[in-house]
Amino acid sequence: MTVRTRIAPSPTGDPHVGTAYIALFNLCFARQHGGQFILRIEDTDQTRSTQQSEDDILNALRWMGLEWDEGPDVGGPHGPYRQSERKDSYKAYAEQLVEKGHAFYCFRTPEELDAIREDRKARGLNPGVKGDLELPAEEVQKRLAEGVPYVIRMKVPDEGVCMINDMLRGTIEIDWAQVDCQILLKSDGMPTYHLANVVDDHLMGITHVIRGEEWINSAPKHQLLYEYFGWDMPTLCHMPLLRNPDKSKLSKRKNPTSINFYERFGVLPEALMNYLGRMGWSMPDEREKFTLAEMIENFDISRVSLGGPIFDLVKLRWLNALWIRDSLTDESFIERVEEWGYGLSKLTPLVPQIRGRAEVLSDVAPMTTFLRSGYLGLTESDFSNGKLDLDTQKKVLQLILWTYEQEREWNKDNLFAHAKRLSKQLGIKMGDFMFPIFVSIAGSPNSWSVMESLEFIGPDMSRARLRDAIETLGGLSKKGLKKLEKEFAELQAVSADA
Ligand code: GLU
Repeated sequence: MTVRTRIAPSPTGDPHVGTAYIALFNLCFARQHGGQFILRIEDTDQTRSTQQSEDDILNALRWMGLEWDEGPDVGGPHGPYRQSERKDSYKAYAEQLVEKGHAFYCFRTPEELDAIREDRKARGLNPGVKGDLELPAEEVQKRLAEGVPYVIRMKVPDEGVCMINDMLRGTIEIDWAQVDCQILLKSDGMPTYHLANVVDDHLMGITHVIRGEEWINSAPKHQLLYEYFGWDMPTLCHMPLLRNPDKSKLSKRKNPTSINFYERFGVLPEALMNYLGRMGWSMPDEREKFTLAEMIENFDISRVSLGGPIFDLVKLRWLNALWIRDSLTDESFIERVEEWGYGLSKLTPLVPQIRGRAEVLSDVAPMTTFLRSGYLGLTESDFSNGKLDLDTQKKVLQLILWTYEQEREWNKDNLFAHAKRLSKQLGIKMGDFMFPIFVSIAGSPNSWSVMESLEFIGPDMSRARLRDAIETLGGLSKKGLKKLEKEFAELQAVSADA
């Protein structure tokens, strides 16, 4: 048997460090067994998937030095490697299960499903989608002939225990009562994640599915699908989730999660890779600094420990410093720094602004420091010259942050249009509205248009600085956040109507 592993990201956002972490372990496992590592794009959610996100994910993984043997960009014998390009093939698999009696056409409306859930709840059952869903065969035929919209759902046992074997966790027991009659094919004919994932893992010859522990609850459905199809099931391995230093699940609110942030921050790709290799895993001799090649050579999946690994910026900086000190020469350090962004040529888009303000050449250095910094080390007093009180400034920052988190076309015109609209909606003068944004991004209000800076600094570092500024101003309480979320939704609804 040739070991074949895969990473199967959904291109719906920024390239996440968690994706790189799982990719790394899949790659090591495959390489160590002389096998192959595949990259497959799971873009069945057409409303949320974007080409931009796919490009960003591929570029970020490559930047880190991860290489795949087959994938949408490099091809391979089992392509296409993008599910949207395979979409016509899934329907037949769902229908095959209907024919075998393992799945059924479901015509229930959302209201009917709600009623079924309520009824189950009242009877003390798991209020999932289950139970009284099927119609008599003639009724099904009639509705199909009439063209009534339907989904295809898999049948799932009502009782008993599902046993899942996991490489790290041994046998996991999940009650069938907790498992829904999962939709396999949606009413638009597109497969759900579960169907597409199982079909593709089978067709692509995947032997080991190594993925995050958030997928454990999907495993019973997948195992059952393999059984229904009569296919061999890959070995499962659920890796521990990355966590914030406070042990909560890694989230961008507490820790930047985009690989692009770390690149902007000036972390070396080999150090980030090394750090991710230490998430729940260690070298047999416990050394902290190692290369990808060394990790592959010494890899042993059974050394993964299940206690939630902490992704900590302080520790990452420390490790990165080891790489800078021990693995770079003066020459390669200069090269790296220039390539990363210290070279003046990187500042080309801002040269008109810089030249317009410099009286002597030495003015250039202080003027451009913030463009190449990470966090700015602000304090509350940096915001004290604003016209708005600090709480309102904090609110402005949070609203603009949420708005910018949704913006996928990061350019100064779009960013400016959002700021203008929001300031108008809130009835705040544009200058006053912009003040906290200036300070958060440029460190002071005395700079050129902050929109130019935002565009230059890029979405990841810009958002990280806005978040940092909100924390500097004391952060938002859970209650305050809830309230503001509501207000944000209302503001958005109004602007969608306009
Ligand atoms: N598309 C899923 C994701 O976004 C893949 C999960 C899996 O590995 O099965 O992570």
